[in-house]
Amino acid sequence: MRWIVWLVMWLAAAQAAERGPRIYIVTDMEGVAGVNSWEQVTVGERRYEEGRRLLIGEVNAAIEGAMEAGASEVAVWDGHGGSRHLSVELLDARAHLIQGTPTPADYYLSEKRFEGVFIIGQHAMAGTKNGLLAHTQSLRVKELTLNGKPVGELGQVAAIAGHFGIPVVLLSGDQAACDEFLALQPKGGRWR
Ligand SMILES: [Zn+2]
Repeated sequence: MRWIVWLVMWLAAAQAAERGPRIYIVTDMEGVAGVNSWEQVTVGERRYEEGRRLLIGEVNAAIEGAMEAGASEVAVWDGHGGSRHLSVELLDARAHLIQGTPTPADYYLSEKRFEGVFIIGQHAMAGTKNGLLAHTQSLRVKELTLNGKPVGELGQVAAIAGHFGIPVVLLSGDQAACDEFLALQPKGGRWR
């Protein structure tokens, strides 16, 4: 049985090398560069439109980077609360946009269409010291654990993607989110 698994993996890798990897981008808002207030991430609040502009800039930069590095496809899942913060009007036209609720338990990854995940604009888990707008889903959640270990939203994305054999290859967020991610994947590098 094992060689079949190996063969399937090898074929998938060879295919990806031929056409360039398909990248799946999960977005959030609280960790976008320049966002520092709930007013920037809450629909209807005074600085919400500013928050959306900062978000789309960071998402489009990620799409451009993926394409320049040879990606053959990019899909963006609007992952901030309610999944209705990005606009196809402003999104880099080379990417697909996924929006709407409820969020499926597989985060749209069970088809195994993608070879890598980017997490963009992420924040640290609830209770993190010096975490900017840190929380875990709802502001009422104090701690969420997975196999006894506290995890935040980025840890949940990484666990679900990992379940389907898809690595998280990039994260952008505030310092505390980056530290949280590196603790999960210590072999990762850091760019400032
Ligand atoms: Zn959010």
